[in-house]
Amino acid sequence: MNNAQMIIAKFGGTSVADYPAMCNSANVVLSNPNVQVVVLSASAGVTNLLVALAEGCNNEVRQQNIDKIRAIQYAIIDKLPANPEVKKEIDRLLDNITSLAEAASLATSSALTDELVCHGELMSSRLFVEVLKEKQSSARWFDVRQVMRTDSFFGKATPDFTAIKQLCDQHLKPVMNNNIIVTQGFIGSEATGKTTTLGRGGSDYTAALLGEALHAGQIDIWTDVAGIYTTDPRITSGAKRIDEITFAEAAEMATFGAKVLHPATLVPAVRSNIPVFVGSSKAPKDGGTIVYSAKSIRSELPTFRALALRRKQTLLTLHSLSMLHAQGFLAQVFSIMAKHNISVDLVTTSEVSVALTLDTTGTSTDGGPLLTKALLDELSTLCHVQVEDNLSLVAIIGNKLTETKGMAKKVFDTMDQFSIRMSCYGASTHNICFLVNSNDAENIIKQLHTALFE
Ligand code: ADP
Ligand code: ASP
Ligand code: MG
Repeated sequence: MNNAQMIIAKFGGTSVADYPAMCNSANVVLSNPNVQVVVLSASAGVTNLLVALAEGCNNEVRQQNIDKIRAIQYAIIDKLPANPEVKKEIDRLLDNITSLAEAASLATSSALTDELVCHGELMSSRLFVEVLKEKQSSARWFDVRQVMRTDSFFGKATPDFTAIKQLCDQHLKPVMNNNIIVTQGFIGSEATGKTTTLGRGGSDYTAALLGEALHAGQIDIWTDVAGIYTTDPRITSGAKRIDEITFAEAAEMATFGAKVLHPATLVPAVRSNIPVFVGSSKAPKDGGTIVYSAKSIRSELPTFRALALRRKQTLLTLHSLSMLHAQGFLAQVFSIMAKHNISVDLVTTSEVSVALTLDTTGTSTDGGPLLTKALLDELSTLCHVQVEDNLSLVAIIGNKLTETKGMAKKVFDTMDQFSIRMSCYGASTHNICFLVNSNDAENIIKQLHTALFE
C-alpha cells in the first residue's frame, strides 16, 4: 500500500471499555484495509483508577482500586477464546501495578505516576490484539515507547519529533508488512528509557505524531460521538454535527476545551497537511467530521462555527502602582511564570493591574496544581496578587469575527443576564472568549447556542 492511503486509527477509552466496545472498534478497523496502525487508550475508567493509585492511597482503597482495574480487564478476557499467554501477561501487568502502587503509597513522584499509569494502555492494547485475532486478522502488538521519544517532563512530556520519525523508520516500519500494528496512545519514553506520558487525553496526539512520522494519508479519531459538534452535545441537545471544518477552527475548539480532540493533535496534522476524521466507533455508519486545510473546504466558512467550554479556570489579578508608566513589569511577571513552568493563557491589562488566566490545556497526568505556593510567593514580591477560582471560560469560535459588523451586539445581547468577569478579543480573528462564573457557564453556552446556531 502506498503511504498516501495509510490510515492511523485511534480508539478512545469508551471504544475499548469492554468486550462489545472492542468488537465494534475491531470491526471499524477491519472494514477498511487502509488502517495499518491502531492507537489505543486505556479501557474507560482505568486511567483514573491508576492516577488515584499513583497519588498514594491506604491499603484498603489501594486494594479496591486494583480489584476494579482487574475486574474491567478480566471481563474482557472472559469473553475471549482461552489464551493462557494473554491471561499471564495481564496478570503480570496487574502485579506490576500492585508493586508500583505500594511504592506510591510510600512516596509519590511524577516519574512513578507515569510508570504506573502506562499500564492502562499496555493492557488494553494486549487485549485488543486478541479481539482482532479472534476475527482472523494478523494483528501485532507494538510497544510505542520504542518510538515515542519525549523529553523527561513526566506527566506532560514534549515529544521529540525528529527522534520519533527516525525511531519509527528503524523499529516500526520494518514490522508493518501485512500486519495491523496495535499500539498505545498517551505513553512515551525519555532518552534513558523511563516511561513518560503526554498528559490526559494524549492518545489523540500520539495518533497524529505517528501519522506524521509514517506519512499517513489520514488520522481517524474514533470516539463516543459521531464527529465534532457545534458545542459539546452533553451540554445541549441542539448541538449539530459539523461535517467539515478547517484545521484552524478545530484547533481553536480543542484549545478552548472541546475535549473531543486533545489540543496538540492538530499540530502534526497541520504541519504535514494530514486530514483528521472524527467519528463514533459504536455508530461508524453515522459518518463524522473531517478536519482539513481551508483550501479543501467546499462550503463557505461561517462567522460562528462553534462554542467551547473550559472549566476550572484560575484568574490572577496582579496589582502594582509601580506599573504606572513603567517598563518591564509584564516581562518580570512572565519570566516568573516561565520559571515555574506555567504558560499564561488570557491576558488583559489596565493602568495598574494585569489580569491573567493560567493555561490548563492538556492537563498533566498527575493533575498537579498549576498554582503553587512558590509561584505565589515570588509574584508577591513584585505586586499584590489576587486569586479567583470557580470560573469557566466560554469561547465563541468562528471566522473573520473582527471584521463582522454587529457580531458583538448579537453576542452581548444574548449574555446580558450574566456577569462577565473578563473578556478577550482581538488577538485572533477566530475567537472571542469570556471568563464567567462556573455556575453560569452551561446556561451561557445553551443561550449562545440557541442565538447563534439554532
Ligand atoms: P475519548 O475517550 O474517545 O478520547 P473524550 O471523552 O476524550 O473521548 O472526547 C469525547 C467527548 O468530547 C464527547 O463525549 C463529548 O462530550 C466531548 N465534547 C466536547 N466538545 C465537543 C464537541 N464540540 N463535539 C463533540 N464532542 C465534544
Ligand atoms: N488514557 C489516557 C487518559 O485517560 C489517555 C487518553 O485516553 O487519551 O487520559
Ligand atoms: Mg479524548
